[in-house]
Amino acid sequence: MNAGKTGSLIPPGSTIGILGVGQLGRMTALAAANLGYQCHIFCQSADEPAAQVAAQTTLAPFDDTAALASFAARVDVTTLEFENVPIATLEHIAEQVPVFPAPSVQAVAQNRVREKSFANELGIATAPFRAVADSDALARAIAEIGTPSVLKTVRFGYDGKGQVAINADTDPAEAWAACGAGPQTDGGILEGFVDFACEISLIVARNAGGETAAFIPVENRHRNHILDETIAPADIPDTTAQAAQDIALRLCEGLEVVGLLAVEMFVTADGDVLVNEVAPRPHNSGHWTIDAGRTSQFEQLVRAICGLPLGDPTRRCDAVMKNLIGDDVDSWRTHLDDPAARVHLYGKTEVRAGRKMGHITHLGAPVTD
Ligand code: AMP
Repeated sequence: MNAGKTGSLIPPGSTIGILGVGQLGRMTALAAANLGYQCHIFCQSADEPAAQVAAQTTLAPFDDTAALASFAARVDVTTLEFENVPIATLEHIAEQVPVFPAPSVQAVAQNRVREKSFANELGIATAPFRAVADSDALARAIAEIGTPSVLKTVRFGYDGKGQVAINADTDPAEAWAACGAGPQTDGGILEGFVDFACEISLIVARNAGGETAAFIPVENRHRNHILDETIAPADIPDTTAQAAQDIALRLCEGLEVVGLLAVEMFVTADGDVLVNEVAPRPHNSGHWTIDAGRTSQFEQLVRAICGLPLGDPTRRCDAVMKNLIGDDVDSWRTHLDDPAARVHLYGKTEVRAGRKMGHITHLGAPVTD
């Protein structure tokens, strides 16, 4: 941890505004409650995970300026639990009350071209990429980047949505149509395919005083493009772990994040670390910290945005976090019988294929230090 000033204090008893109503907001609200804060959720749909555990909820569209002004008047600081909140919404709230991480951070993180360019400007490696506006530009980019490569929408892609694999025989026009990129997504991005040995992520926190703390790098395994399992710690050499931590901290400081920054990275067989994407919010790959960390990512977010000293980011024990996706949630009863398993259910009433319904953290070997 890099100790320093904490920034202006928002003391326990204050109200934290959260934009978004999913499980990340729910777990943030629970951590906030443990430190004596109340949460006020601003959301576009009710009866969802975060609203069930928050003191107050405002149900309104993100472009309802009167509702935003009323919300901002009733909170002391605002954060967000998913990154596609419109920048105009964030700026509107920021006129009245601090928004952490700032709208300028969100503007980079919401746009794959900007986030990769930002990393490259700091000397941090990513897959080679080209911004593409139409299928002709895609054909030119494929000629430059080569195949295999991956076409993605610049904005609004998640869990593999808006992604198309490009091979030597791919027709650019068909790939462009299949991707769904257009003006509404700020176009597309073609990325060179990274033949990675493993995917890792690392979450760092920074408060307004510039104090930073980094959690350990963890390995993420996906099923059907959705995070399936997180293994903490990642089984990578210390030098690779150190490189990943340095990258995440440089991005966090470069973006002047106040809050959390989750950084997803590829590790190649040669040990090179390439940034794939950043998310300025709690991250699914950090859920293990609730049960196995000395400070959870959610408590760390509350500490960072409220100007409190950051918590110890080290772990009590190794852990494997397994998502309960769709019908997986039906297995909850069996996990409750396992003393090494911690069960987290998100309170979602409707089970849908691909929907994150909860997670289990399996506790492993204690860390002795
Ligand atoms: P993303 O939406 O960028 O997080 O991508 C979802 C998943 O697709 C990643 O977790 C990787 O497994 C895979 N992927 C994305 N971009 C690339 C790439 N440039 N090379 C190889 N695999 C990728």
